[in-house]
Amino acid sequence: MQTGNNNHASRWVSPEHGCCRGSRSSDTRLTHLVRQQHRTGVARRDNPTTSICTRNIQVVCGGNYSQPLPADYIEPMPEGHVLHRLAGELNRRFAGKVLEISSPQGRFQAEANLLQGVPFDHAEAYGKQLFLHFATPQPERIIFIHLGLIGKFRFYEHTPPAGIIRLQLVSDDTYAVLTGPQWCRLIDEPTREQAIRKLGADPLRASSDPGAIWPRIKRSSRPFGELLMDQSLFAGVGNIYRAEVLFRAGIAPKRKGKRILRREFDAVYADLVELMALGVRDGRIDTVRPAHLPEAMGRPPRDDAHGGEVYVYRRAGEPCYVCGTPIRHEIMGNRNLFYCPTCQH
Ligand SMILES: [Zn+2]
Repeated sequence: MQTGNNNHASRWVSPEHGCCRGSRSSDTRLTHLVRQQHRTGVARRDNPTTSICTRNIQVVCGGNYSQPLPADYIEPMPEGHVLHRLAGELNRRFAGKVLEISSPQGRFQAEANLLQGVPFDHAEAYGKQLFLHFATPQPERIIFIHLGLIGKFRFYEHTPPAGIIRLQLVSDDTYAVLTGPQWCRLIDEPTREQAIRKLGADPLRASSDPGAIWPRIKRSSRPFGELLMDQSLFAGVGNIYRAEVLFRAGIAPKRKGKRILRREFDAVYADLVELMALGVRDGRIDTVRPAHLPEAMGRPPRDDAHGGEVYVYRRAGEPCYVCGTPIRHEIMGNRNLFYCPTCQH
């Protein structure tokens, strides 16, 4: 995991893999949103710089976009690999331990009180959702977290800086601090199962069955690019993986679900399994094949704080690594869409 630019954090797990440094001056839309979220109490705004340049808000900034962005445009929220990586970090640090659990902000304190003295059992991610299991008999106690757009879970090896902390887990000298989640709730097992039933196949869970979602793909008139972002079909897939797997499969994002062949669907899902596992391992998204790496092509590495080496994501106007055609940018479903009009059909 990369080291954050937060001076207070000795080590932390970021729910995103980039920030908008070098671009914040141009994005008043984000500033507006951060202020709005601050007013509603879901964002910490300890100073204008960090709140704008927060690591899981990505502002589309710079770049040669062919269309204007929607006024409230923000992207992307953490993709599934971030949550799975976070679950792994929580397990590594806390599994089997009795934690000090609190809610310095107060909003989760009543629930935290119910967990005092109860050992933390394990964390699991499903798509973009996180479940923290505690070793209680019936009723089960599970903390259910969705980071949303601005939520962060950070680890500190010293007292964390003051802030609007929804949930704080402490063991020995390790602090895990949750700020700004979309939600943080205490639930039981039936509620967890209900939440999971709403989610589709998660490429990072070996137990997920892509065959179960295929019937919905093959009869859909919606663009496959949209279906890939539907969490009830592909849990954990976000905008970067969507753009990149479509490129790698040579599929145009607007092609309808019912025009996708089963073998294409299988290849896309297998590619997600492979790429997202690399994302969990490396803490960033890299999707280019060996032949298109900077050293193989004799090109400079990608200069973009938003992630690793990719084919199309945030490369609008730049030449495709395969055919040289400028990468195209459009808006689909209020989200940025990037693709090569030559390589993808
Ligand atoms: Zn191309």
